[in-house]
Amino acid sequence: MGDLILPGATIGVLGSGQLGRMLALSCRRMGYRIHTFSPERNSPTGQVADCEIAASYEDLDAVRHFAQSVDVVTFEFENVPVATACAAAEYAPVHPDGRVLEIAQNRLKEKMTLAEHGFPVTTFRAVNSLAEAHNAIAAVGLPAILKSTGFGYDGKGQAILTNADQIETAWIKVTNYGAQENAESAAIVERWVEFTHELSVIAARSARDGNTITYEPCQNRHEEAILDLSSCPADVPATVRKKACALASDLMVTLQVTGVLCVELFLTTDGDLLVNEIAPRPHNSGHLTIEAAATSQFEQQLRSICGLPLGSTDLHRPAAMANLLGDLWSDGDPQWQQATSLPGVSLHLYGKASPRPGRKMGHLTAMANSTQQARRLVSTARDLLRMPPTTDTL
Ligand code: AMP
Repeated sequence: MGDLILPGATIGVLGSGQLGRMLALSCRRMGYRIHTFSPERNSPTGQVADCEIAASYEDLDAVRHFAQSVDVVTFEFENVPVATACAAAEYAPVHPDGRVLEIAQNRLKEKMTLAEHGFPVTTFRAVNSLAEAHNAIAAVGLPAILKSTGFGYDGKGQAILTNADQIETAWIKVTNYGAQENAESAAIVERWVEFTHELSVIAARSARDGNTITYEPCQNRHEEAILDLSSCPADVPATVRKKACALASDLMVTLQVTGVLCVELFLTTDGDLLVNEIAPRPHNSGHLTIEAAATSQFEQQLRSICGLPLGSTDLHRPAAMANLLGDLWSDGDPQWQQATSLPGVSLHLYGKASPRPGRKMGHLTAMANSTQQARRLVSTARDLLRMPPTTDTL
C-alpha cells in the first residue's frame, strides 16, 4: 500500500476550518509541516499552518501546484469537489481517496452504497419530483425526512414531514437549498427512525498496511440538528458498543478507506443499529479524544495517512464535549475565566473572527469519573460562560 511518511515531511490539507486546525497542531507537535488549501484567508487552519494557500477548489492548476508542495494530501471538509481530489492525486497520495469522498458527498450514493454492502440503513427512496416525493412518502410512511442529496451537514437541506400536506413546502425548501449549493437538485425521502441514542464511531485505517482501529462510541445530542454535546463511553450496553465498533471497522475495510472516518449511527428503540451517515475525516464528536484518549483523532489521522503505526484509542477517563456556537456571543464576549476555573475542563477556540449564530466557534471538554458526571461538568462550564462574573473569578 502507501509509503511511510516520516516527521519532517509536509502534510497538505484541503479545507481550512477547525478540524484542519486541530490536525495542524498535531502535525506541528510531531515535527511535520502542514500546508492548507481553501478559498479562505486567515482561516482557523491557516493561523497555525506553515503555509496557507487561498484559492478556489475549482482552480485545478492551483490544486496541482499545492499537491506538488506536499508529501500527502488529506481533507478536513468532505464537500471539496471530487475533481479537486483527483487533481491533487496526480502529484501526491490522497487519503481517503476521491471514491469515498464522492460517496459521502451525496446522500443517495451514500445510502445506496451502504445498503449494497449490507450495512443497515433506514428505508429510503430517491425522489426527483414532487409526484415522486408523494409516492415515496406513501411507501416509507410518516413521519419521514426529506433531504437534499448534496451538500448536507448540520441538518441543512432537510425537512421533517409529519403529514402529507407538508410535502410541497418541504420540496421547495429542500430542492432550493440543493440548487443553491449543488448542481444536483434531487432529494431522498427517509423513514423516520425512532431511536434511543445517536452514536458515532471514529475509525482509522492505515494507508500503509490496512490495519484498522476504532475509538469507543460517543453518544451525541443534537440541538436543531447541530451537534450540541458528545460524551464517551456511551451509556449503552457493552454489546451495542462492541457491535458499533465492529460495524465501523467492517465499513473501513469494505469501502477500502484510508485515514480517519466517522460513522454516525442510530440505536433504535428495538435495539438495532442503523447507519445515518459517514464522514471521511475527523468528527466533531471525536474532539474529546484530544484530552481523553491516548491518541487524539487528529494524531490518528496523521498517523494513518503517513503509515505510522496507529496509536492506542484507550480512554484515560470518561469525557464530554460541548460545542460553543456563535449564539454564546449575543450579549458580548463569554466569561472565559469562569469556565476555565473548573478543574477538569479544557477550552478550545478556533480563531474565528465573527461569531454568527449557529457557527461553531470552539468547544469545551470535561473529564470526570463517569460519563454522566462529565456531561454535567461540561454543561455547567458552558452555562458559566453566560453568567455574570463572581468576585472570585474576576
Ligand atoms: P443528518 O444531517 O442526516 O446527520 O441529520 C441531522 C440530524 O437529524 C441527525 O443527527 C438526527 O438527529 C436527525 N435525523 C436525520 N435523519 C433522521 C431519520 N431518518 N430519523 C430520525 N432522525 C433523523
